[in-house]
Amino acid sequence: MGITAADVRAWIEDYATAIGEHRAELVQLDTAIGDGDHGTNMDRGMRAALEQLAKVGDDDVGALLKSVGMSLISKVGGAAGPLYGTLFMRMATATAGKPELDLGEWAEAVAAGVAGVQQRGKAEAGDKTMVDSLLPALDALRSAQSEGAELADALRRSADAARDGMLATVPMQARKGRASYLGPRSVDHQDPGATSSELLLRTAAERFGG
Ligand SMILES: [Mg+2]
Repeated sequence: MGITAADVRAWIEDYATAIGEHRAELVQLDTAIGDGDHGTNMDRGMRAALEQLAKVGDDDVGALLKSVGMSLISKVGGAAGPLYGTLFMRMATATAGKPELDLGEWAEAVAAGVAGVQQRGKAEAGDKTMVDSLLPALDALRSAQSEGAELADALRRSADAARDGMLATVPMQARKGRASYLGPRSVDHQDPGATSSELLLRTAAERFGG
């Protein structure tokens, strides 16, 4: 009933597919308030991640996540590579050697990943970044866990919170990253990083909660 290493591999594949499908949308969002490279960068990074993932076995969740993190750090430029790379590397450390995760271990891994992103990017809630999807998702995961929710229910609540968080970036004025240079002109645009992070949580809920 847990999340196996094979499930994690399938999730990474799902995420790569989702990034490919949303590539144009991510480019469009990043063109409005950034430099327009988020969709292409993430797509290139996830394709590279899939190539490396093929060399890793299905007995260690941490090894799979580490492989993804290293691919993203080495292949994706701009802010997204180091930030998503850190997310996956921290999740990898939290899950090293584990063939399977329960809800608590998944929540711990997400918590470690989000903490890494915040440390690296120095972003807080409300800065109009990927953190605005990730933090509500983590909070929802922890609430669900403390209420004794089933894995599938907890993951769905986490993905829903990520979506709400993503949509909440629209009226925000950016305080971090390239979008912050626009000042008030960053308002009325959905943050691209929050959008790609929502896809991460949504694909996890669909893959692990099915
Ligand atoms: Mg960009």
